Amino acid sequence: MPLPTSPVDESLIHSRIQAVREQIPEHVEIMAVSKGYSADHIRAAYQAGIRHFGESRVQEAAQKQAQLQDLPDIIWHLIGHLQTNKVKPALKQFAWIDSVDSLRLAKLLNQKAWELHLSPKLCLQVKLAPDPNKSGWSISELLQSLPQLDQLLQVQISGLMTILPLGLDSETALELFRKLVELADHIQRSGYEHLNLQTLSMGMSEDYPLAVAAGSNLIRLGRALFAEADRKEG
Ligand SMILES: *Cc1c(COP(=O)(O)O)cnc(C)c1O
Repeated sequence: MPLPTSPVDESLIHSRIQAVREQIPEHVEIMAVSKGYSADHIRAAYQAGIRHFGESRVQEAAQKQAQLQDLPDIIWHLIGHLQTNKVKPALKQFAWIDSVDSLRLAKLLNQKAWELHLSPKLCLQVKLAPDPNKSGWSISELLQSLPQLDQLLQVQISGLMTILPLGLDSETALELFRKLVELADHIQRSGYEHLNLQTLSMGMSEDYPLAVAAGSNLIRLGRALFAEADRKEG
């Protein structure tokens, strides 16, 4: 089903992106989370200089990617849970898979990437606080899996990603974001040859200032950039 085209307020998107840029250090990348928004929204953010785009669903992204083939330097990130039967199309469509939430999925991505001669970047999704609605590694599960993750030579394990549970107070949120930074530091210092966790993908529209204060270098913004009224559940 094609997404309905909606008139896009380009100047609103530009000014919102500018406003976020003014609040964050230059080394922090903005990922525009375009799930539910049209290819024209993506184009408007692209014109304002955004290159990283995040989509939650493989199928929804495919339609927009087909309309945006004239923008070859877009960097597509898959940020939603990936079902094992969609690994192949996901690898063809996304340079980054930021929501790797199990060893089984990581191994399958490695195998299929080898078959397709691709070398995708992966982020490991960590669950810092119990949350029944979210998938991801607990810290102890992740630490146990590191030796096996380090053997996956076809993929580039490049960072950690987290989504905090809703409704935390700022102090708790800041503490959890710091925990992810410490975890990445700890892993970096543990001497795994093939793990290089430079990317810390944390912070969304509601909490990105806290995430940046804690050390995020990739914030994922949907509602902060695009008008909520334009959003189609797709
Ligand atoms: C939707 C989504 C976002 C963006 O959320 P906003 O609150 O609209 O900024 C970021 N990360 C993930 C994983 C998402 O699913």
